[in-house]
Amino acid sequence: MGSYSLASRHACVKEIIHDGDWHPGNFSSKSAWNAIRTRAACIDWSEAVWFEGSIKSHSFIDWRCLSDALPTRDNLIHRHILTPHHCVFCWAGTESRNHLFFGCPFTTDIWKHIYDLCFHDGATPSNAIDAAISVRYVAGRAGKLGLVIKLAFCATIKHIWSERNYRIFRNKIRSKDQIVGAIKGDVIGRLSSIDLVGDPTTANHHIAAKWDLQVRWIARIPMACSWFAPNPNMVALHCDGSLSDDKAGFGGLIRDDSGDPLAAFASIGEDLSVLSMKLMAIYRGISLCVDKGFYDVPIRSDLKLAVDILNGVITGPWQILTLKSKIQIKARLLRSKEFIHVWREQNQPADFMASIPIDPSEILWEPESFPPELAILIKQDKEFVTYYRM
Ligand SMILES: [Zn+2]
Repeated sequence: MGSYSLASRHACVKEIIHDGDWHPGNFSSKSAWNAIRTRAACIDWSEAVWFEGSIKSHSFIDWRCLSDALPTRDNLIHRHILTPHHCVFCWAGTESRNHLFFGCPFTTDIWKHIYDLCFHDGATPSNAIDAAISVRYVAGRAGKLGLVIKLAFCATIKHIWSERNYRIFRNKIRSKDQIVGAIKGDVIGRLSSIDLVGDPTTANHHIAAKWDLQVRWIARIPMACSWFAPNPNMVALHCDGSLSDDKAGFGGLIRDDSGDPLAAFASIGEDLSVLSMKLMAIYRGISLCVDKGFYDVPIRSDLKLAVDILNGVITGPWQILTLKSKIQIKARLLRSKEFIHVWREQNQPADFMASIPIDPSEILWEPESFPPELAILIKQDKEFVTYYRM
């Protein structure tokens, strides 16, 4: 239980006792609890686990899993409880949260199957927290059908844990197909009473087809957008990262307040994560602005997750925390700055830079050396051409 201050406790008591009489009025145990508790910071992944329509018994196990509070064998050994250490699925690895749920070949196959049902872009989970953060964001974009993704994510963790317990305590074994079947059964069962309405996006059509769902598709009105200039005497920094089968890269572009380009950069990345590529682009872009003496810079990225992390809305996965603090330190050199989320359609020249083949490993272009394709994209932005976003 969180600590509470005397002041807040007295405030609560004052609300219900007047002139020595008891006036319960608006008093409720919930209001009392809210008055005395210290509200913990929201955890980045919590909405992947606790959400409207969730299966509560799943959420409870998922929460403990993501908090690494399940009695996995490494946790028991850590608490000096005598137990074998091996994973009961592969008998090779040590049973830790990350191995059991995301690193074991047995569970990796189950995730592949479930992710194929949920994602059209071949996504696979890497580790517990990153997977949950990614599920939260992707599900958020999928609207009502995001419920399928969250339910499937939660049911998979729950059934992996149940299977582990069946094997240890009941000496029962289910095949991967049976476990996948149980996961699908739980998800479809939960969805049966829910009216599914969705945007007809590629991602949503994929979910509906794979899960064989009846969805009421709503007509989408294309959203118009165009590039927008920074305030006078500021420069706009657009950043992007890209990841393909054989290359990770990032790049960006600096433009003045009339839309004319000042410099473009691109580099090869080493990390195989879109998030870190997008953040690398921001770091490199800010460094370039400082080198060139531009100190008033709105920084634009089309990845909301990256923008939320830099604006302190969420902490972000641990892998990027060093990079995040490097960006924050570098950004202190700017006089004024803001991290802004833009649509992909408003970020096309940066996308171009992030995707071009690079040799050597980094390029830095002045406007006169821009390739024609890039010059055209910049000209369209400068003329505020309207792009339509479905
Ligand atoms: Zn294993």
